[in-house]
Amino acid sequence: MIVLSGGTGTPKLLRGLTNLVEPSRLSVVVNTAEDIWALGNLISPDLDTVVYTLAGIGNEEKWWGIKGDTHHTSQFLRSLGCQELMALGDKGRAINILRSELLRQGRSLSGATDALTKALGIKNTVIPMTDDRVSTMIKTPEGEIHFQEFWVGRKGQPKVLALHYQGIEDAKPSPGFLELLDSEDEILIGPSNPVTSIGPILSLPGVRERLKGKRILAVSPLVGNKPVSGPAAKFMTAFGVPANDDGVKAILGDIDTFVVDRGSSYEGECVRLDTLMRTGEDSLRLARDLVELISCS
Ligand code: GDP
Repeated sequence: MIVLSGGTGTPKLLRGLTNLVEPSRLSVVVNTAEDIWALGNLISPDLDTVVYTLAGIGNEEKWWGIKGDTHHTSQFLRSLGCQELMALGDKGRAINILRSELLRQGRSLSGATDALTKALGIKNTVIPMTDDRVSTMIKTPEGEIHFQEFWVGRKGQPKVLALHYQGIEDAKPSPGFLELLDSEDEILIGPSNPVTSIGPILSLPGVRERLKGKRILAVSPLVGNKPVSGPAAKFMTAFGVPANDDGVKAILGDIDTFVVDRGSSYEGECVRLDTLMRTGEDSLRLARDLVELISCS
């Protein structure tokens, strides 16, 4: 099974799925359009959260960073007058330094990710969607800015006029993603932001064509018609679709099974489940329901 993931909703689900599905049968393809170079290192937020979740070291309150991490380096940097866009924890920074060093030595992002997952003892395959540079850019009344500048730097406040995935036309799906698309028939689109997390993966040249004929199950990231966290609603409106499950479905396109929350007002064909994952038990419960759905379909 291939799971398509961003950095919050789907990692919550992975926390449950890893208890039920053998690592060799659960591969994760991760959005990289939120990646950004900062202070000489490549921060890849969604890859980091997926990797930390699978290694069992993630901060599951914030779904960002490593649990119990310290912030000595970012605090010292601040005292030196350097305000980072994304304040990293010390261990999280170590991961970013190592990833970037591997890239500087000539490895691809896939190669660097493979080395990091092995070093952390992860048995699942974790693959960036592409080894090429793709950036989600947000058009605001004051100009176009990178997603992280919008979401972290400007706290998601500017009006969003439009957005696009810079570099997507020339990007190739990573070799590992292509191999998985050749070998796997089951796709699980996790409950991640359809515009900024799943959209870029599906928009890579050739991906939608290669998904044809596969069994695709998607879980909506909306609970009670609203995002649990993050800017999905604002982006969906800017993307020209309604900020509800009709909009999620419109962005995802052809899927076989659309799982929405019981509180959704979606009226199309769907399966209704309790999709809010506050705790590890919630994640396990939803993962169990989905595995059952997949094995029955
Ligand atoms: P990002 O890369 O950090 O933006 O993270 P994702 O795209 O993976 O996740 C953000 C989306 O996850 C938001 O649209 C949330 O509504 C959704 N989400 C977060 N927690 C949950 C949850 O418990 N259940 C569901 N169904 N969606 C969730």
